[in-house]
Amino acid sequence: MPSSKSRNSPFDTQNERGGDRLLQIEAVYDKVPVGLCYLNRDGIFVTVNDQLSRMLGVSSDHAAGRSVEDVVPDHAALLRASLVAALKEKPIPDHKMQRGTETLMISAAPVTNDLGEVAGISVAYTNITNMTQISERLAEIEQRTTYALESAGQWIWDMNIATNRVWRSPQYRTLLGLDPASPAAENVAWDIVHPDDKARTIEAFEDVVSGRKPHFEAVYRVQRGSGGEAWILSRGKIVEYGPDGSPLRLLATSVDISSQKQIEEELSLTVRLRMELERKLLEANRKLKKLSESDHLTSLPNRRKFSRLLKREYERARDDGQPLALLMIDIDYFKAYNDVYGHLAGDRCLVQVGRVLSKVIGKGTGVVARFGGEEFAALLPGASVDEAADIAATLLEAVTGLQLDHEDVPAGRTSVSIGISALAQLPPSTQDGADALVNLADRALYEAKRAGRGRVRVWGSFSTD
Ligand code: GH3
Ligand code: MG
Ligand code: MG
Repeated sequence: MPSSKSRNSPFDTQNERGGDRLLQIEAVYDKVPVGLCYLNRDGIFVTVNDQLSRMLGVSSDHAAGRSVEDVVPDHAALLRASLVAALKEKPIPDHKMQRGTETLMISAAPVTNDLGEVAGISVAYTNITNMTQISERLAEIEQRTTYALESAGQWIWDMNIATNRVWRSPQYRTLLGLDPASPAAENVAWDIVHPDDKARTIEAFEDVVSGRKPHFEAVYRVQRGSGGEAWILSRGKIVEYGPDGSPLRLLATSVDISSQKQIEEELSLTVRLRMELERKLLEANRKLKKLSESDHLTSLPNRRKFSRLLKREYERARDDGQPLALLMIDIDYFKAYNDVYGHLAGDRCLVQVGRVLSKVIGKGTGVVARFGGEEFAALLPGASVDEAADIAATLLEAVTGLQLDHEDVPAGRTSVSIGISALAQLPPSTQDGADALVNLADRALYEAKRAGRGRVRVWGSFSTD
C-alpha cells in the first residue's frame, strides 16, 4: 500500500468522498504511532506502515512481497507461530520483544476474507519502552513503600468520600493477621471500627470534611484476625477536591498502637496503685504516730507526747516572757480502790477521771495527759499561778462530782490531789527548766498528799493551806 501524501479535503465533493475516505484511512495507517503490517497466510509481508518501517529499519517497498524470514529473521519464528495459531483459529498470544534499547509488544489478530477464511494476520508493534520503564519504576516504589509500611507497622487507606468506600493497602491484613480473602464489607469506610468508638471516629472525619480541622486523627479499636482487638491510630488529610471545592478523597495511614496503649494503661495503673499505697502509708504513719503518742486506756496524750509539748511550751513561754503553769494530778488511795473494787473497775475509774480532767482543761488552751499509773499532768500555757490554782480547784470539784464511791477512804468518794508549779517560780538561771517544772509540781503534789489529800498545793506557798 503506497504512503499517503498531500490530498484534497475528503469533503470537497460528493463523488470524491469514498475515495477520499480511503486516502484518509491510508494516512491514518501510516501516521499512527504503532507499527502495523499485514502478513498473508504464507508469511509474506503484504503491507508495512511507515511506523513499522522505522521500527524495523526496512523500507516498506523492500519488505512488501518478501517473507518474514527475509525481512525480520530475528523474530520470524514468532510471526510464523502467530500465523499458525491464526490458521488453526486458536488464540494468538501477545509477545514482548527487545530490539536494541527498545521494548516492543507484538500483538497479532487474524484477518478473514469474504468467505470467512483466515487470509492472514495483521500485526501491531507497540513501543512499550517507556511503559516498561514506568512500570518497573512503579514496582520499585511499591516495593519500597511496602517495606516502609511493614517495618513501621502501618498501612495506607484511601477513602472515596462520595461512595464511602475505602481501599486499604495489603499491610492492613498482614499486620492485623486477617484472612486475605475476608469479605469485601471491610471496604465500607467505618465498618471495621469498634461500635463503641464509631461515633467518635466519624466525628473526627466530619471535622476534616467540614474543614473545621485540617487533619483527620482518631484512635479506635478494630478486630484482629485472631479474634482480639487492636488499638489503631489513624491520621490523614483530604488529597482531592471537586470543582465546587467539596472534598473527594481522604488519604490516611493507620498504625497499631496496642502495645503503647497497654504500656500506658499499665503505667497509669501503677501510678494509681502507688498513689493509693502512699495514701495508705501516710494514713498508717499518722495512726502510728497517734498511737505512739496516746495512752491506750484513756486515749489522752501519753507521757512521751506530754514531755514533747512541755518542752515546746516551756521554750516558747520563756522566749516570749509568757506565763506557764504545770499541774500534777494524782488519784488518792487508788491502790485501795483497786483492792476493793478490782483492777478493771480501777481502769474504768481512770478513764472517767481522765475524761473529766480533759473536759475542764480542754475549755482553754491547756492540755492534759496521762503521766503514768494513776497520775495525770496538765499544762496551762498563758496561765498565772492564781489562774492555775483556780483551774485546779475546778478539777478537784469535777472529780469529786463524778461521785465515784470509794468506801475505804475518809471522804467516801474518789478524789485527786494536785500540785502546781509555774514558770515564774523558777530562778532565772535554771537549767532544764521543763524538768524543773515537773519536779516542783511533784513536790507540791507530795505536799497536798501530806496535808490530807483531796486538795491543791502551789509550789512555794504551802503555808496557805
Ligand atoms: P496516794 O493517795 O498516796 O496516791 O495512794 P495511792 O494508792 O493512790 O498510790 P500508790 O502509788 O500507792 O498506788 C498507785 C496505784 O495505782 C497502784 C497501782 O496498782 C494503781 N495503778 C497504776 N496504774 C494502774 C492502771 O492502769 N490501772 C489500775 N486499775 N490501777 C493502776
Ligand atoms: Mg501516784
Ligand atoms: Mg495515788
